[in-house]
Amino acid sequence: MTEFDFIRKYLQNQQQDHQVVLGIGDDAAIVRPKSGYDLCFSADMLLKNKHFFENVLPEDLAWKVLAVNISDMAAMGAKPKWVLLSAGLPELDENWLRRFCNSLFDLAQRFGMILIGGDTTRGDLVFNVTIIGELPQGQALRREAAKIGDDIWVSGKIGLAASALNCLLKRCELPSEVFQQCEAELLRPMPRVALGQAILNLAHAAQDVSDGLAQDIGHILTASNVGAEIWAEQVPTLPQLKESLSRGQWLQYTLAGGDDYELVFTAPESCRGALEAASQQTDTLITRIGKITDSGRLKVVNSVSDGLEIALTSLGFDHFG
Ligand code: ADP
Ligand code: MG
Repeated sequence: MTEFDFIRKYLQNQQQDHQVVLGIGDDAAIVRPKSGYDLCFSADMLLKNKHFFENVLPEDLAWKVLAVNISDMAAMGAKPKWVLLSAGLPELDENWLRRFCNSLFDLAQRFGMILIGGDTTRGDLVFNVTIIGELPQGQALRREAAKIGDDIWVSGKIGLAASALNCLLKRCELPSEVFQQCEAELLRPMPRVALGQAILNLAHAAQDVSDGLAQDIGHILTASNVGAEIWAEQVPTLPQLKESLSRGQWLQYTLAGGDDYELVFTAPESCRGALEAASQQTDTLITRIGKITDSGRLKVVNSVSDGLEIALTSLGFDHFG
């Protein structure tokens, strides 16, 4: 199979979208924005042995490559629409590529997204996705918008993916059912697109949890020039996971693990009822885990009632740390 066979056979025959003026096949794609909307762009790169293991199934790999990018759109409150996929592939293994593409298009179609271009070269296995989303003009959820007194909320359950990863790296042990539940989150995170859009007019600041909850909240604090208090015991978890880990491991994986692809956002107290409604309407668990404060720093305490401060050894993942 040649590069051009691959493009023709696997990439070109997709459902259409009336905003795509020109899709795959020319030197560049053209999309037409809707009036009254902003376009939102993001890119994320995934490297072998850094973001995925070499022996990962092509279905799981494709899912993760796209899901982590969709998650950035969710964090802006945007609707993901178009994708460009650049791939370095050691060879064009048709069976592997078919499985990869089936999974990629399965996830793309769930969100009504279209692959409009990319690049394919021979090389070490690497992917870079550029994703384009759409959102009502001027309404994006930005990191700089947190206000003192805001509640801090998080979606889903935190720390499962990091626990699975640490288990694979032999840094902890988990009962097999617990491991399987955690590994599913590590391999196939489900980006919170519906929630992101549902909180557009309610939340102040938002971001997705990719590198560790504490570190990612830290980005909101820095951008908004505020502080926060987080209540560790209120952070949603899997009870069996918490029982299986030491207290130190649980705190580390939950507060500083990463790979969750949940949303963390701030909103005024007056929005609590509307947020609970948005949570129900989008069938997405949300939990209040802290407050934005004027302290200028992130303070992690054991629980809201005891206020005992916890010192974390690391706040999250840093590629150059
Ligand atoms: P160019 O020479 O301009 O780089 P290519 O021959 O590489 O063009 O690509 C031909 C068409 O196929 C282009 O529309 C490009 O966007 C698309 N394409 C190539 N690789 C991919 C890929 N991995 N995913 C999606 N589209 C791709
Ligand atoms: Mg090319």
